[in-house]
Amino acid sequence: METVLAGGGVTTLPTGPRALGGYVFAGPADYVTPVDADRPELGRLVARPTLPADWRAAVTPGLSRALAYYRARMAPSGAVSPIIVYQDRPAPYLRGSVTGGGMLLLQIGGVWRVPRLELRPERDRLLAHEVFHLFLRRHDVADFPDWLNEGAADYAAGLVMRHGVPPALAEVQLQLDLCVTSLGDRPLDSPATAARNRMPYACGFVAHWLVDRALRQGRKDDDAALFALWADLAAQDGLDARTALGRAVARMPAAARALSLLLTSAGTDRWALWAAAVTETGVKASYTAGPDPRVRLSP
Ligand SMILES: [Zn+2]
Repeated sequence: METVLAGGGVTTLPTGPRALGGYVFAGPADYVTPVDADRPELGRLVARPTLPADWRAAVTPGLSRALAYYRARMAPSGAVSPIIVYQDRPAPYLRGSVTGGGMLLLQIGGVWRVPRLELRPERDRLLAHEVFHLFLRRHDVADFPDWLNEGAADYAAGLVMRHGVPPALAEVQLQLDLCVTSLGDRPLDSPATAARNRMPYACGFVAHWLVDRALRQGRKDDDAALFALWADLAAQDGLDARTALGRAVARMPAAARALSLLLTSAGTDRWALWAAAVTETGVKASYTAGPDPRVRLSP
């Protein structure tokens, strides 16, 4: 420690009562820099100062873009800028975890540094996913269900990448295929439904797609209403995910029916009924039963 700290002061983050909320950084003050020097209010990055410049450059633009996007639509809780801890662990994949106190621990895998340009959009999307967890957080005892947390983070990350444009049908189809096969006949919003693999991500994405469609109908075609819904969820203790999303889709009855079938319905005819409801929203959906059931979407 003495060697590390020889050059300068020691700092702890976050400060005040927020330090009791989760992760804490205690270390050399020169590890802490703004994520984006031009916009210091966006958040701080904690990383070793000897981090090679190209490693830093591989993460900071994606972090800055996501932080700015969410900040413009949802104020960060407590109006304190988030703290992102960059941990240079040789893990095989990226891992991000958020605790209270507005702190995100980002463990960047060795894979991250392989210079494969085609991975760049995926990389920024992953960063946007992790950063979203800093914004949609509960403050009372209960956490949101996984499908809400992960589905919203995936859906929001897509909006960052597409500048607010809704997902193309091909992207929804990928998520829907994963959801249909992994969720099967079980209700999504039930503690008895154990999450397998990408199930909460894919089914949560599909749930938010329905909500987004309903919210954009007859309004300005942007994502403001959806982010306002997430901001409400984060701000109002006791507001549960199913109620909040149900209220938001109520303006489009067929989407409301499809959402309810996804969240609470069980049984063999669920996906057939779901496809019929989605068709009424204006996207043709057809269900094929059998050993490999599928709902196919077409414009
Ligand atoms: Zn996540």
